[in-house]
Amino acid sequence: MSHPGAEQSAILPLPHALALSSGRRFGVPRSLIDAARVRQAVGDWRGACAAAGYGVRIDFDSIHRRYGAATAGTIRTDLRHLVPDLLRWHLPRYAHGAGRLRAGAMIPLADYGDGRLTLAALTPQWALDAGERVVLTVLPTVGWDRTGDPLSAGLRLGRVRRQRLVAPRFQWDARVAHELPVPPGADSLVTRLQDLGDAEAAWGAAGIPLALPRLCPERGHRRLASAPVHLAGLASRASHACPGADRVALHLGGGWTIVLSTAPPVSAQLVEAAEAGGIPVLPDAVWSRPIDADLIRLGYLATGDLHPLVADALGCPPAGSATSAEPDRIAVRCGTSVHWLVRSDGRIRPLDHSTAELDRERALALLGGPVCGCLATITRLFSDPDLVSDVDLHLQHGQVALAAAAVARRLGSETRLDAIVLPGNRQAHAVLAQLHEALHRYSRTLVGIPPFDDRCPASPRPSLARRRRHRKGDPARHHQVIR
Ligand SMILES: [Zn+2]
Repeated sequence: MSHPGAEQSAILPLPHALALSSGRRFGVPRSLIDAARVRQAVGDWRGACAAAGYGVRIDFDSIHRRYGAATAGTIRTDLRHLVPDLLRWHLPRYAHGAGRLRAGAMIPLADYGDGRLTLAALTPQWALDAGERVVLTVLPTVGWDRTGDPLSAGLRLGRVRRQRLVAPRFQWDARVAHELPVPPGADSLVTRLQDLGDAEAAWGAAGIPLALPRLCPERGHRRLASAPVHLAGLASRASHACPGADRVALHLGGGWTIVLSTAPPVSAQLVEAAEAGGIPVLPDAVWSRPIDADLIRLGYLATGDLHPLVADALGCPPAGSATSAEPDRIAVRCGTSVHWLVRSDGRIRPLDHSTAELDRERALALLGGPVCGCLATITRLFSDPDLVSDVDLHLQHGQVALAAAAVARRLGSETRLDAIVLPGNRQAHAVLAQLHEALHRYSRTLVGIPPFDDRCPASPRPSLARRRRHRKGDPARHHQVIR
C-alpha cells in the first residue's frame, strides 16, 4: 500500500482500520484540502504549504550560491507542483489511536544537483506536538544528520529507504497523482487469496513463484500472509523504481524481507532481513497496495471521504459536499408532553421552560430527584459521545478551529470549546494550553533554535509496554503487521 510504516494486513483488523481512516478524515479534513488547493491554483506553493500545516525551511539563496541557478529553479518548479495536502494524506501514521502521523519520519521527495541535495518532508515530534505539523526542507543528501541541525532532533532514519517517494512521486506531485497503482478488486483471485492469508498461492496466481525458507517459522508465514503486496505489475514497477537492479528487497517488517528477481523469469524468495543486506530497497509505496483501496473495499472509508486526487486515481465518483446540518428544533418527550428545544442566538433554549424552572430541575437532580426530559436532553447534547469523540480527534490532530466549529454547530455558537470534557477526564482548555506551548517551541525550532529537552508531549502516547500488552491481547494478531 502507499502507506509506508502503517500497520496493515490482508484483512485489516478493525481498530487499525478505524485509526487509519480517522487519520485520513480528521488528519486531512476537506477544509484543509480546499484551502491548500486555492493557494496552489494561483501558484502560491508557500501559501498551500501553510494551509496544509507545513513549516517550510528552504534557503534558496544558499542553494543558488552553492549548487547553481538551474538546481534552484528545478526545486522551485517541483514545489509549484507539490500537493502538500495529498502528501499529508499519505504520510506514515500510527495504526492505533487517532491515526496521528508517525513521529520521526523523514520522507525524501526528490533529489537534485547530481544527487547532492534532497527535498524532504520531516515529522519530528516537536512539530507533531504543535498540531501535527510537517516540516518541508531541502538538505544535503549525505551526512546531513551529523551536522547538528536542530531539524534532525528526534528523527529516526532507519526507514528512510523504505519511505522514499523519489521514484514514485504519485503521493505528492500533481503531475503524476493519477499514477497511483490501482489494485484489482475484491473479485480478483489474487485479492481473494490474499484476503484468506494464502500468500504463496496469491503470488503463484500472479505468475511469480515464491520460495520460502525450508524451515520457515510461523512468524515468517504470518508476516508474509499479512503483507499487502500489490502483485499485479510488481516486477515492472520495481524495474522502473530501481533501474539497473535485477534484484530488489521488499522489507515486510518484523525481520522479514522478500527478495524479488525482476529479470525474467521473475521470481521471489522470502528471507530473513539480514540476508538481504546490500540489495536495493524497493520503497513501500511501490510494492504496497494503496491503503485507501483496501479501506474502501472493506467498508472502513466512504468514497466521499477520499482525498479528491486519490478518488480520481482510484476511479471513485467525486465527493459531494456532504456537510451534515444540525436541525434547528429538537422534539423532546418531557413527562407526558412533547416539548421543543430550539437553536437560536447561538444557544440551545427550551421553549417550554423558564430559566428558573430549569435551575430548579438542576437542583432537584443534584439531590437525586428525577430529571425532566428537556434538561436530560440538554445534558446529553453536551456530553454527546460522538461530539466528544469528534472534538478529541480534531484536537489530537491540532485542529482547534474545527473542534470549536463542531461544538458550535452542535451546541450553539456561544458554547466554548472549554466546556467539553474529553475522554479520560481531560479538560479541553488544558489540551489547548499544551498545544499553544508546543506551537511556540515549534516556531523557535523552525528558525534554528534547538528544541527544549524538558518538554512534555501535547498528548502522550501509551508506554511501549502498554502498547505491547494491548497488541498481545488483540485477537486479530494473526492479521496484523507491525513494522
Ligand atoms: Zn420540558
